[in-house]
Amino acid sequence: MSTNPFTEEHELLRDSVQKFVAKEIIPNVEEWEKNEHCEKEVFKKMGEKGFFGVSFPEKYGGGGMDFWAAVVVIRELAYANIGGLSMSLYAHTYLPLPLLVALGTDDQKRDYLVPALAGEKIAALAITEPGAGSDVAGITTTAKDMGDHYLLNGSKMFTTNGNIADFVVVVAKTGEGMNITLLVVDTNTEGFSSIAVKNKLGMHSSDTAQLFFEDCKVPKTAVIGQEGHGFYYIMNNFQEERLLAGVTGMFVAEWALEKAKVYALERKAFGREIGKFQVIRHKIAQMAVKVEACRSIAYRAVAEFIEQGNKAEIIITMAKAFISEESMIVINDSLQIHGGVGYTEDYGIARAWRDARLLTIGAGTTEIMHEILGKVVLDEVQHTDKLGKSAVQV
Ligand SMILES: Cc1cc2nc3c(=O)[nH]c(=O)nc-3n(C[C@H](O)[C@H](O)[C@H](O)COP(=O)(O)OP(=O)(O)OC[C@H]3O[C@@H](n4cnc5c(N)ncnc54)[C@H](O)[C@@H]3O)c2cc1C
Repeated sequence: MSTNPFTEEHELLRDSVQKFVAKEIIPNVEEWEKNEHCEKEVFKKMGEKGFFGVSFPEKYGGGGMDFWAAVVVIRELAYANIGGLSMSLYAHTYLPLPLLVALGTDDQKRDYLVPALAGEKIAALAITEPGAGSDVAGITTTAKDMGDHYLLNGSKMFTTNGNIADFVVVVAKTGEGMNITLLVVDTNTEGFSSIAVKNKLGMHSSDTAQLFFEDCKVPKTAVIGQEGHGFYYIMNNFQEERLLAGVTGMFVAEWALEKAKVYALERKAFGREIGKFQVIRHKIAQMAVKVEACRSIAYRAVAEFIEQGNKAEIIITMAKAFISEESMIVINDSLQIHGGVGYTEDYGIARAWRDARLLTIGAGTTEIMHEILGKVVLDEVQHTDKLGKSAVQV
């Protein structure tokens, strides 16, 4: 993309996010990482500033800006280098809330969406189970129709914010096969409990939970959209989550490249700056190419998402697959350029490396992205003749 997508309004937003990050986030990084969760207070503060809802409709308390505003917030959080906190904040906003905007009833919007955007309630989305992650249709959590309510039973795994959430959007079976329904469940419902998933490789400042539902009585009014349509809703909703993951990965890689450049010019070995060794210079050049390629595909995906919404699935899937893999290489190379200090906590690159490892797993693994794309690419062959008459016939 040759033109700068950011307006004066975006830059004003950037300025206030930068100030917020410096005041409310940076001083707490070490403590939140050690505690394996952030303070709930930070959600409230983010909400008060309106940072959760920058691209959400104003009528729900959002900022009414375009998705480039969300990109501004993502960039400033990525540069704070605390992936766990960023993930917690995004898992609150961009996983469950777009479902409520698109499909929620007026009451659901009033009771969940509006307070969540204001930071007064914390949200989570629970799809993954101990026995089913990529295979969403393989979930076994059930919501049995009891006439005037559902009885929810089952367990969810790896739910970000699961221990601190006020409500969880739960994906449950309401019948055989693909009869899947989304339910918005208050975490004070009797029969609900959660435990922390500890000892993660990275993303330490994010709360991760296993959830348990034992005969939870859930009212019929908890259904989001139509009963039995949940699988389709979830597949659609993945676009925003994957776009976010891709954009985040791109900015973390950009940050890691900047760190490598600075270090390569200050660290001396064999009487000269390490950046003067051709091998390091070329590595940095290759990293810069990768970051540029990641930015191009990320920004194109954002532009198409703004124009077409979830119909931009293919470019978003490509961006998620490409950036997840390439950004990890860039971050790994940055750590290598830092030598021994890269392996310590002193330069931040070790944390970025740990946190970024989730990129190829969360929000749909690279293999699943390739499965989606592989089908589309091969299907295209059946419907078009790109080689056509001009192709050289051998
Ligand atoms: C820190 C963290 C936070 C998370 N937050 C959330 C959250 O908030 N909400 C939520 O619902 N989930 C969350 N998840 C779960 C995450 O989305 C899943 O881990 C991810 O979708 C992969 O599912 P899985 O772990 O069951 O792996 P599996 O699906 O068991 O996959 C294992 C391996 O098999 C491969 N594989 C599977 N199927 C295929 C196939 N058809 N073709 C080729 N390869 C295949 C996968 O790519 C992978 O390499 C989180 C996970 C982590 C680690």
